[in-house]
Parts: sequence; structure tokens; C-alpha cells
Amino acid sequence: MSVSALEFTQKLSAQPKSEEERSAVLADPGFGNHFTDHTAVIDYRADDTGVGAWENARIEPYGPIVMDPAAAVLHYGQEIFEGLKAYRHADGSIWTFRPEANAARLNASARRLALPELPEELFLESISQLAAVDREWVPSGDGESLYLRPFMIATEPFLGVRPAREVSYRVIASPAGNYFGGELKPVSIWLSTKYARAGRGGTGEAKCGGNYAASLIAQMEGEAHGCKQVLFLDEFNDNAVEELGGMNVFFVFKDGRLVTPALSGTILHGVTRDSVLQLGRDRGLQVEERKITLDEWRDGVASGEITEVFACGTAAVITPVGELKSETETIGSPEAVAGDVTMSIRQELLGIQTGAVEDTRGWLTRLA
Ligand SMILES: *Cc1c(COP(=O)(O)O)cnc(C)c1O
Repeated sequence: MSVSALEFTQKLSAQPKSEEERSAVLADPGFGNHFTDHTAVIDYRADDTGVGAWENARIEPYGPIVMDPAAAVLHYGQEIFEGLKAYRHADGSIWTFRPEANAARLNASARRLALPELPEELFLESISQLAAVDREWVPSGDGESLYLRPFMIATEPFLGVRPAREVSYRVIASPAGNYFGGELKPVSIWLSTKYARAGRGGTGEAKCGGNYAASLIAQMEGEAHGCKQVLFLDEFNDNAVEELGGMNVFFVFKDGRLVTPALSGTILHGVTRDSVLQLGRDRGLQVEERKITLDEWRDGVASGEITEVFACGTAAVITPVGELKSETETIGSPEAVAGDVTMSIRQELLGIQTGAVEDTRGWLTRLA
């Protein structure tokens, strides 16, 4: 299939939200509650030998998806997604951060979930077309962005268990506020000892809804203990630290080392994680991707060897971690203040994304 032959058609919304409504949303976007006027869609269809093609690329009005109740995604969870942000720079232009990395990860997830891969050009085109038609929805406030959510679902109506031959790829967009307002207060994290989000050979490395479904009960447990996020360990590997429900985790050592768990097959390859590693290297920190256990965390905080802990991901960028709580212990303190290394990396990364700091690594792509 010639990819460039797949042109997007545009059917613009006959009833876009009013300017007043949009202004009200942009004045206080929050996260994930409001959506723009349009959506990007591409369909996929395969024949019964499994040979298929993407077709009918289009921008259409945002609205409910009409689906057969037997659609495979509703029964067997054949679904993957991505998340990236579009920022409005000072001159009004709209940019996104390392979208090729998201395109590649979408395809890695697709392979694991037996979904079709989407050519990178179509991924990039889908987000730039949507950002262009809905450009008025990209906020301009400090740290604000338009969150883009590409996803792929199995739409074939069929209750047998096999990869679906009809699939839909879509992108929706939601204005996102500055996650933490002005002040960045370290969060408390709950250590889940009862539940796992992923296991060896499972889907931990794929960005799929099922991983999130599996983490919700642990999240509820954490919330009941006053924690915002949950940390998962690999209990079959000396309680090695894995990641949070939706963020990767980093440790800053007193001697300048920056340590994050190695990608083990059960950890999501965060684009933010990869970018922090690169920023750390470029500023001369000794960067280590390796196994780090709960014992090392506990001992390191007690001895003062570990000076800062932070979590990172597209939605919240970089979040300082104050304490880790479990049924039996607390590591760190709820009174902790955000550390210097954490804040400085956060500032540099956000600066690049928002255009305040020069992009010397070719990380930005202009969308509109
Ligand atoms: C999306 C996600 C992350 C963060 O990835 P980014 O590309 O940095 O946004 C981390 N962990 C999980 C489980 C995720 O789903």
C-alpha cells in the first residue's frame, strides 16, 4: 500500500462548541474532562487470510462511536493507546514532543496486542490534521497544552477468540491545565503488595487499557491510604522497583547518580523517561538503568544516599515523590520538598516543550 496515497478527507463539525463555551473550558481546563470539536479516524480491514490495509482516513465531528455490541474490543479488550501533548509557543505556532517515539511505541503495542501496525506517516498526519482543525483549543497558559489521545480498537463483531479483522484508529484531543497549578508538592505513593499490573510475558510493556484496568483496584487501595499513585514491584525479583500505574520512576543520589529501573519487559518505555535519561547524560550526571530494589530505596533514604525521588510521564511531566507508604512501613516523608535536581530537569524539559528553552536535539515537531 502506498501510504502517501491515503489522503485525509475533512468533514467539519456543523455544531462546533461556541466561543463562550470554549473560552470557559480554556479558562480552567483540568485534565481529560473536555474534548475538542473534531476527531481523526482511520479504518483497517483485513481479509480472512489476514492481509489488510488502512483506509478512509478522515477528520470528522467529535461524537459517539457507533459499534456493534459484539465488537471484539468490548469482550476481549483488544485495545491500545498513546498520549502526547501539543503546546502553543509564544508566536502562536503549535508543536509536539517526539511524536515519532509515540508512533513507534503504538506499533510495538500493536504487535503485542495482535493489532495492525499504523505507518508512522499516518500517525503524524492524524495528529497534525486534528491539531490544525482544532487549533483554537490549544491553551496558551503556563504549562498548559492540548493532550492528544490516539487509540486503536478492535471493532469486528465476532465472539470467537482471534485477532479482529476490522479495527479503528482514532485520535481525540482534550485541553489540559497545568497539572499542579503553581506549586509542585511532592506526592505520597502507595506500595501495592497485593496486586500486580503486569507479569513476565504479559502486556506490561504495551500501552493498553487492560494494564490500567488491572491497576485500578490497587489505585483505590492507595487512595484509601491518602496516596495519589501506586508503585508496583517485581516480587519475584527481590522486590525490584518497576513503575507507577502510569509513570516511570527515578532516583537521584547524593553523588550525582540518576538511577531508573532498567526496561525489564514489564515496564512501559516512557518517552519522558527516555528524555530524562538523555537530559541527565547531557548535564554530566552518571545515568544508570538498572535493577533497584525496595531495600536499596529504604536504605538509601535512611542513609541520605538517595536525596530525591521523582515520577515522570507525559501527563504530569515530572512529579516529586515525597513518601512511599505500605501496610507495614513509610519511606521518606510527606513533608518532603521538591528536590533541586528534580525541579531543574523538570524546568528544562517543560522549557523545551513550551519553546522557552532551545530544542537542540530535534525533539519538537510543528503541528500547526
Ligand atoms: C504512558 C505510560 C508511562 C509514561 O510514558 P510517557 O511516554 O512518558 O508518557 C509510564 N507508565 C505507564 C504504565 C504508561 O502507560
